[in-house]
Amino acid sequence: MVSGTVHTPYNQFIKEAVRLQPDVIAATAWLFTHDRLVEVVSRIKALLPQTYIILGGPEFLGNNEVYLRTHPYINALFRGEGEEIFPQWLKNWEKPEIRNRLTGICTLDKLGSYHDNGMAKVQRFKTLVPPENSPFFHIDKPFVQIETTRGCFNDCYFCVSGEDKPVRTIPVEQIRSRLHTLVNKGVKEIRVLDRTFNANPKRTKALCALFREFTGTIRFHIEIHPAILTTSIIDILEDIPNGLLHIEAGIQSLDDHVLASSGRIGNSHSAIEAIRRLKACNRFEMHADLIAGLPNYTLSRLKEDIKKLISLGLDEIQLETLKLLPGTKMRNQAASFGISYAPLPPYEVLSTPSMPPEALYEALQLSRLLDGWHNGHSEWHKPFVQLTLDNSCFLDTFLHHLMQKQLLEQPLSAEHRGLLLYDFCRIHYPTFLPEISAAWIAAGYSLKKAPGLQAVPYKNLKNNNPDIQFYHLSAPSGNYWFGFDRKVERRKPVLTLRNKPE
Ligand code: SF4
Repeated sequence: MVSGTVHTPYNQFIKEAVRLQPDVIAATAWLFTHDRLVEVVSRIKALLPQTYIILGGPEFLGNNEVYLRTHPYINALFRGEGEEIFPQWLKNWEKPEIRNRLTGICTLDKLGSYHDNGMAKVQRFKTLVPPENSPFFHIDKPFVQIETTRGCFNDCYFCVSGEDKPVRTIPVEQIRSRLHTLVNKGVKEIRVLDRTFNANPKRTKALCALFREFTGTIRFHIEIHPAILTTSIIDILEDIPNGLLHIEAGIQSLDDHVLASSGRIGNSHSAIEAIRRLKACNRFEMHADLIAGLPNYTLSRLKEDIKKLISLGLDEIQLETLKLLPGTKMRNQAASFGISYAPLPPYEVLSTPSMPPEALYEALQLSRLLDGWHNGHSEWHKPFVQLTLDNSCFLDTFLHHLMQKQLLEQPLSAEHRGLLLYDFCRIHYPTFLPEISAAWIAAGYSLKKAPGLQAVPYKNLKNNNPDIQFYHLSAPSGNYWFGFDRKVERRKPVLTLRNKPE
């Protein structure tokens, strides 16, 4: 195995491949690795012209003829699920008359004629060899993935899983044994690859009961479709042990017309009510996603949806631009949707009848704004949320302020983001400055910079520990007293006291 990331210098891959002198290079192309992979394999082919190169993965679910004609260093492409067919292909490596006829294989022959063997689909999903004991399986990442289900009941036109019917599942007993294997390997975070964890309530109940057995050992990341959550599943989730689950709620849009135009089952009212209930129990972190560029989605509606999700208290809102993935209905019918998209990965939408390029650009900037001030346990999450809830114009004005200064085009440190928010509020929302100061001081930033200067030394607090020095900050939300340990260099308060206004 030669492995790396998109940031690995390609010379490293090339050096390793040349050392190994392989007969075959087989690699998987994914949306964000595709370009890098092509850079690497084209160079290897130049050095090792006899090496046969075959690529597979979700990038090749569409028409592969043009790709093969325009990438002459690639000998074959594989379309579909490889677990059953690819071992046969390797076994017959020296018998081209057999391997080239296997389902899923796409090739050009010596005369330049294209041969396409359709789509490979695993026939015995339940009996596939679990990957956990393979030397190719990595456990050194922040989390590992376990595929419990393949395919999805829903029909979202932009998603490859929507095309995959019927849904196939692994029995719960088998999942239990695999989880024990992972626990024994020291895994603590598992992303459950089940496209819609709550699609089948009976199975959802069984899996929740199984996950409970791993309380305190593993945290499970699951994807739910909140619009179809049944009351009985909500009851189960409300009672789940703290920290056992991390939930991704598939929203995409809160506009029912947009959802219907995208082939997605489930209405926004039900989704909002389910999220409201789940957030109220405060037992897990919950993220939601929105997709700019879906048919009939407008920028103003997108902004309204963001505000709605913020008001529901979601921990993260991931805003993405629609990607037209090979093999999806939306890609195949892009013209009838009036969608223009990038012909190269990641195939992002460039324009739709309801979102011209400038609106999509603004949505992208909005996504960066959310990442910087709302998502990822940002220090500025709390003041950002409060500002959005208290002021209907805040999101727009802050966004345009940052865009005008082109600040969202560059990486910004957390401290810089705090200063930007502070400076912006100094002009537009001066009464809110103490709240940003409170977040600034709690995060441990300098008391000598503008937000920190709002706090003043405080001596009147009963304090038995002479090493603790207190600062007082008065804010509309209450009084804060921050205690700093004089012996600790980094100025993060070791103690915070607060009284709320009467
Ligand atoms: S519900 Fe999710 S996984 Fe299923 S088709 Fe829609 S986007 Fe894909």
